[in-house]
Amino acid sequence: MNKLVDCFVLGEGEQTLLEIVQNIHAGKKIADFIGDVAGVMYADELGQPKVTPARERLAGPQRSCSKMHLPPAYRKVRMPLRDGTGNFLKSIEVPSSIGCTQYFSFPSVGKIREMQINYGRGCYKNCKFCSSPAVWGKKVIFRSPKEVVDEIVACYENDGVNFVYFSDLYFNQNLKKLKEICEEMINRKRADGSSYFGGENENNLHWFCLAGAFKARSNKDLKEVEEIIKLMYEAGCVKIGMGIEGFSPEAMIDMKKMSDDPVERAVDVILSFHLASKVGLITRAFFIWGTEKRVSGERAKSLLAMQVPAGIFLDYESLKACVASIYCDEGFVPPTTGELVRLFEIDHLRVAPETPYYSTETGRTRKLRGQEITFKELIDLGEDELTIVSDQDSSLIECGESKESVEHFLKREVVEYFYSTPAYKQSVEKKIKKFPCLKETFLTWKKFLEDALQQNFDWGI
Ligand code: SF4
Repeated sequence: MNKLVDCFVLGEGEQTLLEIVQNIHAGKKIADFIGDVAGVMYADELGQPKVTPARERLAGPQRSCSKMHLPPAYRKVRMPLRDGTGNFLKSIEVPSSIGCTQYFSFPSVGKIREMQINYGRGCYKNCKFCSSPAVWGKKVIFRSPKEVVDEIVACYENDGVNFVYFSDLYFNQNLKKLKEICEEMINRKRADGSSYFGGENENNLHWFCLAGAFKARSNKDLKEVEEIIKLMYEAGCVKIGMGIEGFSPEAMIDMKKMSDDPVERAVDVILSFHLASKVGLITRAFFIWGTEKRVSGERAKSLLAMQVPAGIFLDYESLKACVASIYCDEGFVPPTTGELVRLFEIDHLRVAPETPYYSTETGRTRKLRGQEITFKELIDLGEDELTIVSDQDSSLIECGESKESVEHFLKREVVEYFYSTPAYKQSVEKKIKKFPCLKETFLTWKKFLEDALQQNFDWGI
């Protein structure tokens, strides 16, 4: 283990961290008590890694949805500062997640003062690359909506927070719980009867969440998904990020991202972005670079820029037939008449290399690019080798591409095939025409990209 690290806190850290701090505060040395603290990994006197028994989930043995109480978010925390050999120098005050800023968010003017908060923990899925099962287990536990909203409002009143980042990894996995928290936010009023959440008032609370594609299998489901997305917007949601990961059905099944019919899953993804965009949410899509080796890059890029008639979204079966033709017919030619929308109504594209994070199935089973060794074997070799995988760019697997070519793709080709396409420009213009309050948001994003990439974009704004 690294000399700069005393121990790792595993899983839910609130109680574990509290016990560690209380022991230090009482004047004890870490080596004298750490072995008695549940839920930690540390190095013993011989430098060998030790893991203490897992800590019980905060929700308790009954695992009730309303029993998970977390300590409130704090605006500032004190952190230890150490020299290069691990000696403690002093403690400094640093901002917690409250106070971070979000690019590309509503409100478009004024300062975003953000906080992060959990509504629930855990995910019922088990994607090979995701750390959620290892960190939170497979049991999904939600906090009470009232407690979460109480905490957000307290941070709004006391610290001027006006933006919330729900750090749940799959915020919409339980639609009943999603509706409950949205309704709690909608019903939360100030003394004068005005809403704390939502609307175009930049002083109100707004939020961003990470989600999966909503499921729809009929026109009735489509309507229900539309209703819940509207409810989210009314509750203050302004941005939604959804994990697509890739287009290849084979790769998605292999990564355990998908167990459904690939066409139905694709329809879910396409519909979810369309319906979110339709109510005025900024949409963010997450892709994993390296999943597309079974599908040509050209095909992936053409899907991103592909346009279809907007009317097709009104009918589930028509959309499904259209998507089926994309997957099954290499000769598919996108329609060129009618009111067109991009197949994937994505405002913000995130592409990250597939990374074998420790404890994920990917981390356990896949070989690192160019090295016949797994992540765990690499760690077991000793701390010096850790530097090899500490940089995400260096831990590319599967795609077999060089770091340079991936950087080129991420920095240039995403721009060329996505942000610079006429389809993207048209969708920005269309969205701003429908939701003028988003103009500043897109301008902020444009400036960020132009500064980062040193090139100009013509989005017509
Ligand atoms: S990637 Fe998303 S859906 Fe898959 S296990 Fe992680 S949180 Fe769940």
